[in-house]
Order: sequence, then structure tokens, then C-alpha cells
Amino acid sequence: MRVLVTGGAGFIGSHLIDRLVGRGDNVVVLDNLSSGQLAFIQNHIDDGNVVMVNGDLRSLEDVMKAMSMDIDTVFHLAANPDIRLGTRVTNTDLEQGTVATYNVVEAMRRCDVKRIAFASSSVVYGEGAPMPTPENHGPCMPISLYGASKQAGEGLISSWVGTFGLQAWVFRFANIIGARGTHGVIFDFIHKLKADPSRLEVLGNGLQEKSYMEVGDCVDAILHVMQTAEEPLNLYNLGSHDTASVRRIAEIVVEVTGCTDASIEYTGGDRGWAGDIPKARLGIEKMLATGFDVNMNSDEAIRHTATVLLQEIGLE
Ligand code: NAD
Repeated sequence: MRVLVTGGAGFIGSHLIDRLVGRGDNVVVLDNLSSGQLAFIQNHIDDGNVVMVNGDLRSLEDVMKAMSMDIDTVFHLAANPDIRLGTRVTNTDLEQGTVATYNVVEAMRRCDVKRIAFASSSVVYGEGAPMPTPENHGPCMPISLYGASKQAGEGLISSWVGTFGLQAWVFRFANIIGARGTHGVIFDFIHKLKADPSRLEVLGNGLQEKSYMEVGDCVDAILHVMQTAEEPLNLYNLGSHDTASVRRIAEIVVEVTGCTDASIEYTGGDRGWAGDIPKARLGIEKMLATGFDVNMNSDEAIRHTATVLLQEIGLE
């Protein structure tokens, strides 16, 4: 099978490609390397299992170029990963999320490609949703520009399912963490301790509480659900069973890095930035009902990630 992975040089995309190549797929990657790294997939390119198309999803022409390579299934993962950016720049999520997703489904229509998996997010639920939040919660009212672009992407995909006969799997991810992470709270904490081992600044009051899923569990869940759920439009939350507070993450990172004398300082307020959702926990019953369960809960995933990212980043 030949698949297209948009954002395949990124954190989650590169782990997904490890699995896809492992099961014998041929992979085409479309990525502009804005936040991804070729090094994450270079081994597969060298082995001839991955073809890299250096292009931008904001260009329909670039997407058409990759889509016309006899593609069976699209994994659409490319997006701006930085939710906070929307507090300063207001068109990035629109272009790299909404317009990019339009280009993907439109290129699928033109090239007669029928199957798409989409990396959406728990942030589409917005604030004040019941927790754990089930997939059928609504109305979804995101409070970040990133969340709005994910909701728009879901809507575009759902409309292409209804109008042009696509089959889609929409995955609303919890916080995904693990090796090769290039952003997020654990990555930030290690970099802050590297710059100054004596103090760790934590955005907010540290009581923000979210669910964390290890990236290997995330990509295994994607592939498992796609094999078991066969509706025209399949919507699944992907997360772990529990949550962890930012305070707990800070304590684990301080311990794993050996910076145990660091003073943990909170900037205050109930959230890290405007548009951040302080508490989020996804209902994962639907995922569990497919027969898939996670290997790691939040605490284990955080400790594992702190350990591997410390090796990747180093403190020196
Ligand atoms: P990432 O930044 O590592 O990967 C995104 C990839 O997309 C990068 O390789 C980047 O170079 C590429 N890209 C971005 N804009 C592009 C464009 N215009 N054209 C071509 N390539 C482009 O991020 P990630 O954490 O691996 O996230 C993958 C997907 O999962 C994203 O859609 C993200 O929104 C979603 N997601 C991630 C998390 C998480 O916790 N990491 C949570 C929820 C949803």
C-alpha cells in the first residue's frame, strides 16, 4: 500500500512512519520542514521506503504533486504545532490548518484518493466540557485559534465524506509526548533547566491538569482504530486513562535531570496563556472498545519522555 503522510518529518509523523514502514507500506512524505526534521526519517529515505516531497500544504499545486503518486490513504498530520503562537499571529492556524486541510481534501477529490486520517485535538472541545469528555460532547467551542483550525479541518473532512464519498478517521489527540519531541511542556522545562539549572519557571499556577499519551501508543492506536472502525466517518479520542498536573511534570523533570536544587517558580494564574485550556481529560471508552489499550499512563509517559528527551537534548 502507498500512503501519503503530511507532516511526516515531524514528531508524531516520524513515529507513524516507523510503524508504516514496519508493516511494509510505501510512504510519500509531504513536509516543508518548518518544524520537522529530515533526520527523523532519513534512515527510511536511505532504505528506499520513503519518498520525500519538499513542499508546502498552503500550495494546492504542491499537494497535488504528492497526491498524484498513486496514493491509497492519506495521514494528514502537518500543522502549526504551537498553540500559543495564535496569541500573537492570527493567520498561521488559518493558513497551515484550515487552508492546508482544504488543499488536502481537494487534492484527494481531484486524484480520486478515498481514505484520510486526520490529527485533530482535544482542544476542539473548548472550556467547560464534562470530563472525561466523550466524542459526542457538543457544541464544540474552541477558545484558541489552533483549536478553531482543527474544528474547521474536521468540518471540511466531514463535508468531503458526505459530498465526495471520502472515508475518514478523525482523531482528537490528548497531549502527545515522547522521543523526538520538539515542543511542549517537557521539552520547554529541559531547555529552561539547561539554560539555568538553579530555577524552573512554570507558566500558570502549576495546577493545570491534562492527559498525556506516549507517542508510540498514539500511532499504534491510530493504526489499530483504522483497522477496526469502518464507518464512512469515524471519530475517536486518543488519550491515556488519567491526567497529570504541570506541577507534577515539573517535579518529575527536576528529578530526572538531577537539578534537584532548582527552585520551581510559578508565574501564577490558572492557565499558561490566553487560549490555553487548564484542565482536559478525554473519554477513551470508544478507543478501548476497539480492543486497543495504552501501554503507559500519564505519569509513566512523562517520566519516559523526560528521560529520552534529556538524552536527546543534553544538559551541557
Ligand atoms: P510537528 O511540528 O512535529 O509536526 C508537524 C509537521 O508538519 C512538521 O514536520 C512540519 O514541518 C510540517 N508542516 C507544518 N506546516 C506545514 C506546511 N504548511 N506544509 C508542509 N509541512 C508543514 O508536530 P506534531 O506534534 O508531530 O503534530 C502532528 C499533528 O498532530 C499536528 O497536526 C498537530 O496539530 C496534531 N496534534 C499534536 C498534539 C501533540 O501533543 N503533539 C496534540 C494534538 C494534535
